[in-house]
Amino acid sequence: MKQSPQFDEEMLKLIFKENSLGDITVDSAALKAQLLQYIEAKQTEQSQQKHTVEEVSQALPSAPKLAVEDGNSLQLIIGNLESFADFYAQTSTQLASELGEEKAQQLELITTHKENLTHLYETIDINYQLHSALNELAAALTSIETTEQLLGNVEEVIALLLKSMLSEKEQSKFFVKDIQQEIDDLKAINQQTDDINRSGQKQHQQWDKTASRNLNNLNQLSGRLALNESDAKAMNNEVALLKESLAEKTVIDEKLFALQQKQIEKLTKKLEQTEQEASTYHSQLVEQRLINMQDSLTKLPNRKALEQKFEANFTAAKQSNQSLWVAVADIDHFKSINDNYGHSAGDKTLQVIASALSNSIRDSEFIARYGGEEFVLLIPDLPQNAITNVLNRVRERIKSIPFKFKDKKVQITVSIGATKIKATDSNRQVSFDRADKALYQAKRQGRDRVIIY
Ligand code: GH3
Ligand code: MG
Ligand code: MG
Repeated sequence: MKQSPQFDEEMLKLIFKENSLGDITVDSAALKAQLLQYIEAKQTEQSQQKHTVEEVSQALPSAPKLAVEDGNSLQLIIGNLESFADFYAQTSTQLASELGEEKAQQLELITTHKENLTHLYETIDINYQLHSALNELAAALTSIETTEQLLGNVEEVIALLLKSMLSEKEQSKFFVKDIQQEIDDLKAINQQTDDINRSGQKQHQQWDKTASRNLNNLNQLSGRLALNESDAKAMNNEVALLKESLAEKTVIDEKLFALQQKQIEKLTKKLEQTEQEASTYHSQLVEQRLINMQDSLTKLPNRKALEQKFEANFTAAKQSNQSLWVAVADIDHFKSINDNYGHSAGDKTLQVIASALSNSIRDSEFIARYGGEEFVLLIPDLPQNAITNVLNRVRERIKSIPFKFKDKKVQITVSIGATKIKATDSNRQVSFDRADKALYQAKRQGRDRVIIY
């Protein structure tokens, strides 16, 4: 079978031309062309008609010149674009085939897509200033009834993603410009100080020359045994000149000192200002990093935060030979909560469960929302015989939450798969996959249980 097409990072980098700042600039027309090529390849793979690609082409937003900052964002953007391109290929394909199909079947497809999209929107890594726009699009999904409307919604999300990339770049441009301005200002002050010093040096040299000529003359005169009248006059004259020259030097020195003092004050002020600005930038960066690491619905650390923490704990555990457990908890039949009581009841449920999970762990432990209705726990320093009890306590705690929807009491359970990091695990993914397998077994054996591998 033909290999599924992929966005080739190297190819994208050719489109993303590098400039002197080391930034990468996106040629949006070329990016769009590649997106279309990708979608076309996907559709050919599904043996679909060509004209739907043109429809998609019409629908794609014409974005302005775009830019991204570094390799990491590039990876993220490629990931996001791939997801959306896949969605386009799939949905436009269905658009063509749906024409002759039953309405009920169409509705079912739309519902599935709406759910998938809701999930996808939650995992989009987007500039936080655009979060509310993204939330609006996610909310608008609920009232969508046709595939065309779905496509329109996706188009808007793509446009939002592009905007996010652009604004990130714009912000970093301002930052670079500000810093550059600071550096230029400091350079200018430095140059002025240098000029003052140079002109001072010249005046000193001039004075030295005059003073040493005076001294020479004085030397010669005083070397003679007997001073005649004219020699004595000349000597007096030289002494007077030397005095004058000394007075001149004092004036020059005072002037120079005052100028240098001013320059030092200027530099100190500028440095204080730069320091203040740097500290503001720093706190903004810290705040931004925090937002990037938190799941907006449950306020738990998100998947990105988990990856960092897991990597650090994994390495530490392997080096110190201390135990580390990774557990994956997944809500049972969660889809039915959404189906029966609506998406916002589902959201509320997720928040309550997240908070219960968060309250049931110790300070040394860590919990994150991995995605959808899945949570991951990292538990260090726990003996083999204690893990089952600990995780069963967590499971029971969730089970005992008295949920009530539409005046009906509902019990919600979770299944948990867990494993201990082994010395032979070459990376954290190996350990994670084992926990995930354990979770799968817990589901297969009837859910509402803990399985340890
Ligand atoms: P299982 O017991 O096998 O895990 O069944 P399930 O229904 O929980 O699993 P499935 O993976 O079929 O469905 C998960 C559902 O979770 C689908 C999706 O709509 C829903 N979901 C994921 N994220 C969110 C969210 O943020 N809010 C809401 N309301 N639902 C979500
Ligand atoms: Mg799941
Ligand atoms: Mg589930």
